[in-house]
Order: sequence, then C-alpha cells, then structure tokens
Amino acid sequence: MHEQHFLTNEFVVPERMKAWVLGGPDEIYLVEKPVPEPNVAEVLVRIDAVAICATDLEILRHGVPAMVEGGLPFHKNLTIGHEYMGTVVKLGTAVDEYRIGDRVTVEVHAGCGRCARCRQGMYTSCLNYGDPAKGHRANGFTTDGGFAEYAVNHINTLVHVPDDMTDEEATLVVTAGTSMYGLDVLGGLIAGEGVVVTGPGPIGLLGVAVAKALGADPVILTGTRDRRLELGKELGADHVVNARREDAVAAVRRITNGRGVHFVVECSGAPEALNEAAQMVNRGGRICLAAFPQHPVPVDLASLARNNIYVFGIRGEGQSATHRAMALMKQRRFDARLIHTHTFPLDELPTALKYARERIDDAIKVVVKAKC
Ligand SMILES: [Zn+2]
Ligand SMILES: [Zn+2]
Repeated sequence: MHEQHFLTNEFVVPERMKAWVLGGPDEIYLVEKPVPEPNVAEVLVRIDAVAICATDLEILRHGVPAMVEGGLPFHKNLTIGHEYMGTVVKLGTAVDEYRIGDRVTVEVHAGCGRCARCRQGMYTSCLNYGDPAKGHRANGFTTDGGFAEYAVNHINTLVHVPDDMTDEEATLVVTAGTSMYGLDVLGGLIAGEGVVVTGPGPIGLLGVAVAKALGADPVILTGTRDRRLELGKELGADHVVNARREDAVAAVRRITNGRGVHFVVECSGAPEALNEAAQMVNRGGRICLAAFPQHPVPVDLASLARNNIYVFGIRGEGQSATHRAMALMKQRRFDARLIHTHTFPLDELPTALKYARERIDDAIKVVVKAKC
C-alpha cells in the first residue's frame, strides 16, 4: 500500500484535528485545534505512531527542561511528543524531496540553519534555540509535536521509512539516532574498541545495538535490572554486568584483562556514573554523557585531568545521526523492535503515559497509534 505515489493528493486533510495539549503540571487534555499549514520547506505529516520518551514524562511534570538557558516556562497548550512517524499528506511550495504518501519518521530538531552550530551540523545545539522566527523548531519541545493527528515538519527533520518497517519500529529511529550521535561525538571509529554502556534504558539499549553494529568489541552493558540486561544481550552486548551483584568498575576491568575500555556511553544518569566511567576507561579514554543526574554531583577532576580523559555531553540527535541509525535498522543490523513493549490508541494517551512512567508490565517503549 505504500509504494504508490499520487500526483494529486488523495489524502483529505481536515481543517481541524484532535491534539493533546499540556495544562498545568501533570495535566494533559484532548482538544480540537486547527490543522497546521506547512511553510515553504515543510510538509504536513499525518501522524501514524508516536513513542513515549522519558523526556515527555519530564516535560509533563516539570515543563521543558533546560534546553535554553534557565529553561523555558511551563508551556501550556503545547502538544508534546517528539518520537513520531507518519505519512506526508501535504507539501510546502518548495518541497520536492518528499512526495505525498511517503512514510517518514522524524528527528526532533530543525535548527535555524544560520547560526555557527547549525552550520557545523550541530543543529541540536542551535544558538537560536526556541526562536521560531529565526527558523528554529524542536517539535514536542518548543513547537507542537506528535500527540496529535497532524504536525508540520521541516524537511531537514524527515527520514524515509522503508515499506517493510512497521510504524512502531520507525518511531524508534530517533532513539537509535541519539545513541549513534553519542558514538559520533566519541570519535565514531569504534570498530575493535571496547565500549561500555551504562544504563539499559532505551538510549542505552540501542547504544549497545549501534555500537555492536559498528564493530565495537567488546560491548559491555551495566545496569541493575536483569530483564533489561538480558535484552541488552539480545541487542548485541558481549557482556552484561548487574551492578547490584558485582562492582561495575571491577567487572569492566576483569572483562578487559585490566586494560579498561576506550569509550563509555553514560546512559544511567546515576550520581556516581561519571566517576565510575572515569575508572572504566583507559588513559586517554572518552566518555559521552547521554544522561545526567537531577542535581550537581562531586566529580574527581584530578583523575580526569591526570588520565587525559575526555568528557563529552550530547543534546539529542545531531549530525544527521538519525539517517545513519536508519541505515543500520533498514539493513536489519539489529532489532530495535525488542524494546517496543506496548501500544495504545492515541485517545488513551494518559494510560499510555502511566504505563511508561510506572513501567507497568515491564514497559520500555510505549507507542500510541492513531489507528490500533
Ligand atoms: Zn526522546
Ligand atoms: Zn541554529
């Protein structure tokens, strides 16, 4: 059904749509609002599926996190949801890269395209973040996102979805893209090098999968929940370490015959994680922080300096990493579907959010779909 492309638009786009919007903290309402119009370089996407992210739960409770200096005020009436996919149903006047009927999945950030960081491909660190007048969009953060029937997306944020990929799997591409970006900032050439991933959340689990697909050896996953660690093995971890039973640093040292690894991707946000990562890497090693603790934590700076250890932070999914993640997923280099656990209809979003927040029934990635 997806291979046909039509010269005329067979998708009837209504004037109004259903959309979930933020009320106060922990309040979300289903309302009707106008279907947005795509600008010259944008398309209108009919949203077919959206995955819930821990960040959605964070925004729902506390507002948009410190994406701009000092954070944004609580954004009433914003439609959140940033890990979505769907079908292109309307084109902006200058769009020929996509056609009506194309299935697409999205990245979150359309940088302004004019600041120094955007010019470097670091559009998730756009210097005009949160300024739509300058062309910046971060759907689900500063501009309307995916818990709705339609959304507009700049073409820079779109990735084609192959016909044989399910809607649910396609929602996971941006998560894999974030893991990929973490490995990119560490230097990218990880074949034959040891990688430790700390924290088996969605980004950590797909971090394992991407690292393995790129040839890292060994890939070690640390965490505290056996079921998640087992999943990590299915996604490519050569070794898993349950930090409740064994000291994670000692385990990494043991597995690597005392040498440590070149790279750590920190996905747990645990307060001690950076200090532990610094003991897992060898001299000159590199650590990427893909998660962070809620509050400032003491860090052993001397060990970082003395051992020439590099620490990188990442924001989201820059440098077109999402396209590289899609390339791996399209080639079935790993099965991201393993982390999708639940699906609910869009109308039941509050239940879906509850499953994700409380990890009911071992929920990992909970997806909502327009049509289940
Ligand atoms: Zn997310
Ligand atoms: Zn920019």
